[in-house]
Amino acid sequence: MLQPPHIPSTPLKHPLLDQLKVELEVLRLDQVHPIVSGNKFFKLKYNLEEALKQNHRKVLTFGGAYSNHIYATAAAAKLLGLQSIGIIRGEVGDKNNPTLRSAKDAGMILKGISRELYRGKTHSEFIDQLRQNWGDFYLIPEGGTNALAIQGTTEILSYATAHFSHLATPIGTGGTFAGLANSIFPQQELLGISSLKGEGIQEEMKQLLQTHGIQPKGSISIWTQYHHGGYAKWSSELIEFIHWFWESFGIPLDPIYTGKMAFACWDLLQKKYFNPGSRVLLIHTGGLQGNLGFTQRTGIELPSP
Ligand SMILES: *Cc1c(COP(=O)(O)O)cnc(C)c1O
Repeated sequence: MLQPPHIPSTPLKHPLLDQLKVELEVLRLDQVHPIVSGNKFFKLKYNLEEALKQNHRKVLTFGGAYSNHIYATAAAAKLLGLQSIGIIRGEVGDKNNPTLRSAKDAGMILKGISRELYRGKTHSEFIDQLRQNWGDFYLIPEGGTNALAIQGTTEILSYATAHFSHLATPIGTGGTFAGLANSIFPQQELLGISSLKGEGIQEEMKQLLQTHGIQPKGSISIWTQYHHGGYAKWSSELIEFIHWFWESFGIPLDPIYTGKMAFACWDLLQKKYFNPGSRVLLIHTGGLQGNLGFTQRTGIELPSP
């Protein structure tokens, strides 16, 4: 089993924080586990437990060629002795990208399919077809968000984080945000920073919370102006910020999720969103495995741990 981890955290020191009398700390989910790190540890934990309970030998999931979810599923399945199959969006032309190479090294069978076919990933006929091809498997949806994933992300916070006034997390599919919304305390505010362009996430999140019967235990807000061009897009400002953050605090960030979240929080800090006395916890959801692939794709260097 994937053991519940001790989660380290790093307090930040900076003159602006002293001046504004705000405390900032980073919860290091990037360090929860040597192999299966970040929020994916929590999202996979109960899913893989369930796969074992149902006596499955294989898990199958979906993702893009640089997906943290693909990488984490491959690594976690291997630890638990499960065979993993990754259905990858687009032809797997570049099997040598660092994400897919690591997934393959962990024993994952990779199958690239066209973007068109990929769109059918939630249709039952397509899943039936996959069962005919690959035999019986436990299915984990793209991005890994389902009820068991949210049960897992509900465990990220604990009494050890009860004294924070604000908590901030990146948002992709929202499974992490939903679990956090379910476990904050009434006096806390949860900020979700969307990595995707557009306002659609507001409604999607409402739906997701409703589907899983979650009534947020404190106040929640979703911020949509920090996407830097959209999902997997970036701005030079964001890249500069990631380097500045590394040089100032020694904490590596990724450009897809945690960089945008930290950028947003620092911007809100400068705009005095956090009152004096606020204690803000940034949830570092991991994703650093993707930095190598990002550099390979774009030529842009990033700090790595
Ligand atoms: C997958 C991922 C997210 C998004 O999590 P959701 O639960 O889909 O919102 C955020 N940060 C990192 C580093 C991730 O890998």
